[in-house]
Amino acid sequence: MIMSLLQSPHVLIFPFPVQGHINSMLKLAELLIHAGLQVTFLNSDQIHKRLLFCTNILTYFSQYPGFYFDTIPDGLPPDHPRTGDRVSELFNAINAVIKPRFREKLLTSTCQFHHGKPPITCIIADGIMSFTVDVAKEFRIPTILFRTISASCFWAFFCVPKLIEDGKLPLNGASEMDGYLSNVPGLESFRIRDLPSFCRTKNLSDPSLQVVVYETQRTLGAYGLLLNTFEDLEEPALINIRTHIPNLYTVGPLHAHLKSRLSSSSQQQPSSSSSLWEEDRSCITWLDSQPLRSVVYVSFGSMTVLTKDQLIEFWFGLVNSQRPFLWVIRPNSVNTESDIPVELLEATKKRGYMVGWAPQEEVLSHPAIGGFLTHSGWNSTLECLYEGVPMICWPFYADQQVNSRLVGEIWKVGLDMKDTCDRVIVEKRIKEVMEVRKGEFLKSAQRMAKLATRSVETAGSSYGNLDRLIKDIKLMSL
Ligand code: UDP
Repeated sequence: MIMSLLQSPHVLIFPFPVQGHINSMLKLAELLIHAGLQVTFLNSDQIHKRLLFCTNILTYFSQYPGFYFDTIPDGLPPDHPRTGDRVSELFNAINAVIKPRFREKLLTSTCQFHHGKPPITCIIADGIMSFTVDVAKEFRIPTILFRTISASCFWAFFCVPKLIEDGKLPLNGASEMDGYLSNVPGLESFRIRDLPSFCRTKNLSDPSLQVVVYETQRTLGAYGLLLNTFEDLEEPALINIRTHIPNLYTVGPLHAHLKSRLSSSSQQQPSSSSSLWEEDRSCITWLDSQPLRSVVYVSFGSMTVLTKDQLIEFWFGLVNSQRPFLWVIRPNSVNTESDIPVELLEATKKRGYMVGWAPQEEVLSHPAIGGFLTHSGWNSTLECLYEGVPMICWPFYADQQVNSRLVGEIWKVGLDMKDTCDRVIVEKRIKEVMEVRKGEFLKSAQRMAKLATRSVETAGSSYGNLDRLIKDIKLMSL
């Protein structure tokens, strides 16, 4: 055993330090470990501390002899909120602090058997940190970039130079938002409004837009691109991406892929939680007491910050829909202290349940859940799709505007409520998804769930692509 470990390829996995990226990259890490590879998972100090505090991750991964955690500072003070509204500060700190530290890390990790670990033979880095490709080249280590967004969003970022050339960007006014991108292959059903939020600017030198467009183009210099999606889900975007980046591995939905591989091995226990907040499991007991498909699950993910007005509009909409609801209100996710109207508090006691953080995958698979009011983060979208639950989408930022269009217009598994936050609309959309058009949405959601399941089974596209990835990584270490 020891001899075979010393000889097996050693992959360094390096996520951008936020919840959604950690979740999907840790699932990938566990899949690689199962294939007999060794993995070092490089966390920021801050993320690692929170994982140790909120989960049993160290104990869980100690079952795998070839799995190691390592840490690096992200350059921000410990009390920085690291929320979506301040993500550009994280980008800046990473370039200033992580980049030089990463080089130092590689210097030691490429030594023969540093601290008993064999040298790194392949890097899978977050595609939003493309500096890793340059640094790794200095050490002659191939790097595969993993973008944790949808393929459609990646493709939209890739097309930004063309959109500028065609005069679609920058935006001159709100009246242009409903224009279609009919001349852009792969994005014909999208409107300007459905482009990633960073494109909504009159200023092409907007720092967030600059970063994402630059990082996307830099993928061309990597060994390959890995996406948490599957072929049947995003075919038009994938066909177009492949014309520029032929070495594309679509291996998702990763959480489903891991479940499927764990259940086909002798290991029956579920994978470890990677939550950065403590999961409140009392909501599962509450769900157990609710009727079949009756509950609206509400969560806006790990980065969204609501204004007080938005909070109140959602709250009235939910209460007025007369449906039971389970709502995740993350600590510090509302940007003002607010007095909540008594009628909302009273109605919530009767029909609602609120937690600070939920075991989301388990919640979505619960039979009481009938719909998901979501911010359309890519992980949440895939988790919901896999369970065959219809969605009501309220995208906040980044790729979410693209994902909600996929849900509402392309897959037709729910409704896209982007750019409106009004109690009457919230109530109406919930009623449409949970009552009026319930059968229609359920049917298409369950069809997509079947496709997702099939993609990670033995003959499925994601299953085959993961095997190809593993073979390629093994070849790199010969
Ligand atoms: N999540 C969770 N509990 C919650 C809310 C979210 O475990 O109460 C998880 C969810 O399952 C998903 C991740 O947090 O895997 C959020 O990622 P996503 O890409 O959906 O959105 P982001 O947080 O990056 O905006």
